[in-house]
Amino acid sequence: MIDEKNMGNDINPHSFPMEIFQQARTPFYYYNMEVLQQTLEEIKRHASGMNCSVHYALKANGNRKITSEIAKHGLGADLVSGREIEAALEAGFPASEMAFSGVGKTDWEIKLGLKKGIGCFNVESVPELEVINQLAGEMGKTAPIAIRVNPDIDAHTHKYITTGTAENKFGIGIEALEPIVCHAIRLPHTHLKGLHFHIGSQITQMPPYVMLCQTINDLQDHYEQLGIRFEMINVGGGLGIDYNDPDAHIIPDFKSYFGIFKQHLNTKPNQLIHFELGRSIVGQCGTLITRVVFVKENRNKKFVIVDAGMTDLIRPALYGAYHKIENLTAQQTGPTEEYDVVGPVCESSDVFAHHCKLPITRRGDIIAIRSTGAYGESMASNYNMRDLPACMFSLTP
Ligand SMILES: *Cc1c(COP(=O)(O)O)cnc(C)c1O
Repeated sequence: MIDEKNMGNDINPHSFPMEIFQQARTPFYYYNMEVLQQTLEEIKRHASGMNCSVHYALKANGNRKITSEIAKHGLGADLVSGREIEAALEAGFPASEMAFSGVGKTDWEIKLGLKKGIGCFNVESVPELEVINQLAGEMGKTAPIAIRVNPDIDAHTHKYITTGTAENKFGIGIEALEPIVCHAIRLPHTHLKGLHFHIGSQITQMPPYVMLCQTINDLQDHYEQLGIRFEMINVGGGLGIDYNDPDAHIIPDFKSYFGIFKQHLNTKPNQLIHFELGRSIVGQCGTLITRVVFVKENRNKKFVIVDAGMTDLIRPALYGAYHKIENLTAQQTGPTEEYDVVGPVCESSDVFAHHCKLPITRRGDIIAIRSTGAYGESMASNYNMRDLPACMFSLTP
């Protein structure tokens, strides 16, 4: 086993049940429910003192045990498909605490949201606004909506997961916003609750959030002059986690994150602030557990071939994402070796890590791929007719 460090926050992330792992069929996701619970408690603690509601973005991880636990802690849900609306209802999230985002909502998904009475449609375009208004009218309902604004803030993250700059598909540019807001207010079957923002993902520096607050403040001042006041502002999510050293920051820095909004966002009386966090809630509670099938050498390069592949965890192949990899069964104090850790899928991108330093690794060793609670299991596929990954949960008291 690995050294047990004291993390200073009562969590020992390495309390892996090795005897159970040894017997279990791999690969599977192992979820540490204590980490999840403590993360949720921290959110509650640091979000207090603000008139806000925190939503969980279900797309990060839709596993039922995880979503029910989050619902039990009183969070709302941010959803991007009709199936996610259904899953969130089954997990116990109240419909009134649901927001539905996405640039391509289809008619059945919009109707489902209206029928279930979800709290807000985050509208991303004028055609969508018209369709929601029309469908709501046909159903004799009023659709609560927010307009998603693209604030053109570069969150300095990965090009595939930046969503708040001018050249991507999300939201409506600030320059085009005013006529749309005025139009939405006049529509008979929509109720404009406010504005929605989401500037990107895996944001670990606070300046983009300060810029977001300033943008929102300016917009609110502008609309106030027009006599328009919003009952709700949704600031999105995107807070990042420490992939390099998960043990050092097993719980993300929610104090700084919520502190930025407390300090910089000028809220109006009775105005509700929505947060919608995904990765920062579930990222660190999950670990992908996999076994070494073969160790192979090719032209001076050593490969560790594991039984998990890009079908279980696609982030490295899709985004070049880094995940810390540990050999849980090798001698930790001995010599190390550099390996490429790869999966069995017939794609050359099926690589978890290049030049990964591990203790001398052998067939049968158990490998942990850390910080995989977010966008891991939820992005799994059946490619190569592989089974979807299994999951295991820490025993909660
Ligand atoms: C994905 C998404 C989120 C959550 O993003 P994280 O980076 O996981 O916090 C929040 N809001 C919207 C609209 C999203 O699409």
